[in-house]
Amino acid sequence: MDSKQAPRPVAEIASYHAHVYFDPAATRDRAERLRGWIGERFRVRLGRWHEVRVGPHDQAMFQVSFATELFATLVPWLMLNHGGLSILVHPNTSNPRRDHLVDPVWIGTPLPVHGDMLPEEEEAEGPLEPNTDPDRPA
Ligand code: ZN
Repeated sequence: MDSKQAPRPVAEIASYHAHVYFDPAATRDRAERLRGWIGERFRVRLGRWHEVRVGPHDQAMFQVSFATELFATLVPWLMLNHGGLSILVHPNTSNPRRDHLVDPVWIGTPLPVHGDMLPEEEEAEGPLEPNTDPDRPA
């Protein structure tokens, strides 16, 4: 790395995704329970269920899109409540491949990510319109 290179500003991050992985035959009930808990507590966009591998993801999963302001509560909450599921938390910048492969954090056991499916240049995705109506504290 070039020592003269300036550090990347956090303003590069337009939003985050958390991808919650599950095994349809063994841990879908746990994923359903976690999804319900998230929706009761956080104003986020819960994506649809993907029962089979999709895109760069190695297992069935659903996506949680959330605003940067939620990171400090949602991510620690997931650390305490993932129930053994693997969760990939990645920033959304203009480089999806780097976001997923180089810069994410994992909660639970890390899984392979198929980065060749991802572009290296794209407009950064902001937080998607929330579809939850939380009424409980985290
Ligand atoms: Zn994602």
